[in-house]
Amino acid sequence: MTLPIRYSIFPGNPEAHLFEVRCTVDNPDPWGQTFSLPIWIPGSYLIREFAKHVVRIRAQSGRKLLRMVKLDKNNWQVEPFDGPVTVTMEVYAWDLSVRGAHLDTTHGFFNGPSVFLKVEGREEEAVEVEILPPKGTKYRNWGVATAMPRKGAKPYLFGTYEAANYDELIDHPVELGTFELATFKAGGVQHDVAITGRHRTDMRRLTKDLKTLCETQIEFFGTPAPMDRYVFLVTAVGDASTALICARNDLPHTGMDKPGGGYRTFLGLASHEYFHTWNVKRIKPAAFTPYDLDRENYTTLLWAFEGFTSYYDDLLLVRAGLMPRNTYLDTLGRNITSLLRTSGRKKQTVAESSFDAWIKYYRSDENTPNAGVSYYGKGSLIGLSLDLLIRNQTGGRKSLDDVMRALWKRYGMKGIGVPEDGIEKTAEQVTGLKLKRFFGQAVRATADLPLQKLLVTVGVDLALRPPRSGVDRRERKPTRAEKTAERGVALGVRTGAEGGNVRITHVLDGGAAQKSGLASGDIVIAMDGLRVTPDNFENQLSRYRAGDTVTLHTFRRDELNVLNMTLAAARPDAWSLSVNDNPAGARNRKRWLGTD
Ligand SMILES: [Zn+2]
Repeated sequence: MTLPIRYSIFPGNPEAHLFEVRCTVDNPDPWGQTFSLPIWIPGSYLIREFAKHVVRIRAQSGRKLLRMVKLDKNNWQVEPFDGPVTVTMEVYAWDLSVRGAHLDTTHGFFNGPSVFLKVEGREEEAVEVEILPPKGTKYRNWGVATAMPRKGAKPYLFGTYEAANYDELIDHPVELGTFELATFKAGGVQHDVAITGRHRTDMRRLTKDLKTLCETQIEFFGTPAPMDRYVFLVTAVGDASTALICARNDLPHTGMDKPGGGYRTFLGLASHEYFHTWNVKRIKPAAFTPYDLDRENYTTLLWAFEGFTSYYDDLLLVRAGLMPRNTYLDTLGRNITSLLRTSGRKKQTVAESSFDAWIKYYRSDENTPNAGVSYYGKGSLIGLSLDLLIRNQTGGRKSLDDVMRALWKRYGMKGIGVPEDGIEKTAEQVTGLKLKRFFGQAVRATADLPLQKLLVTVGVDLALRPPRSGVDRRERKPTRAEKTAERGVALGVRTGAEGGNVRITHVLDGGAAQKSGLASGDIVIAMDGLRVTPDNFENQLSRYRAGDTVTLHTFRRDELNVLNMTLAAARPDAWSLSVNDNPAGARNRKRWLGTD
């Protein structure tokens, strides 16, 4: 009997951020076994070249060193050998995103693609992983948080874990360190919440809300839930916000009665990640079935996998009673505003945006708003439009929920990839509607979505108002200064702060700034001879009227420039949503949101 492929990972030198990772194969390819590291991680469509963090690598059998040839950037071949082969790597782990590996004296974290070698030709075989503790008494309280199945390891402790194949191995991120733990059951499945970082979280509140959220989603797709276990790995830091990393203050604290905006952001992220358990991890494009981890995998469908997930993340919070209706409508209004302010939506379709994610969405730059559209932002509004369209045209008998459940039964449950036309076909079959025209316009063309018309069917009015700011930014509750700016002017820029100065980050198509020759990267130092700072910029701008000419002093690199700019009136381009009292609309709205 041959033993499974065995890995071990040891945080050998936390001070130098180095993991030592081994992979042992008992019966290697007699022609010379090839090993490789993925160049990307499923869920994030960017070439990350994990092999660049391999500091040292060697192959041996027992004590005998074996020759190893590097074939290309991420493939190594060991000389032909009859007997077990072990490859040992030293991997540098200082990736602050949640997509790679990170190690210091306070904690360790890794995703499989950045540390575990793929044994070519053996990807379908079961594997074992021994996760070892760092040496030294200061690490004696460290534990392990992961959804990877345990083999010999005790719960939350170092020891041996296992996975059914390589894809499953790299699907479970692992956190090492000290963390606060909470556990709950949802749909009969054990869920853990492990929080690392300095925080004072009301764990009971957090657990209660996450349980409600998970139960809502399991019920949405239908029991049984597809996973044996689920772990929310949360890293609380000062100021950050991605899937697993959250701002410290976004977690609920004791004595908090009403959830603040930050906590809702956190719940929204948790909801998004959890929905991916079905949509994208199991219901996935045929192009990802299986993943080819050696090159880009192209699909035109990310607007459905990321966009529909973004649509449901907040909607299911409303249905779970974790977000009030009006907060949800405010969020929708901001999303609509942000899409309609992006002139790139007229140049790139969401199908193109999905296909080009590798070179565009994940590598956005100063021209992105003028050139492209987000398959998240527009994709979620396509989800909304499609949902309301189906509800309206079937007299409330069907909805996008039915389409998602059909995709789950047809593809996700069976492990079959969704073909490029699979979303549209399933939607038509499930609803009995002809949707070709809708998909053609929404997905493969750049026409604006019929949001106003569709929202009316659920008793929601869409209204336009002027922007609250002279520079383009996400709309929110106005400050007093911004209220007076409503009658103001638009520069057509996005700005940031740099060393106490205003820095132009984006120059938007057709705006006053673009006409005057202002460019992204320019530092604005004065407006009509008065010093400009990030704090007073809006206020200074609010003193002008449309048609006024203003002189700006700017630096481009180290050269001082003087620009004269004729200011344009701010067009009303901020959308807000409000409910009306149409009784039929109210009935439909209740069916849609699950609440009045
Ligand atoms: Zn996502």
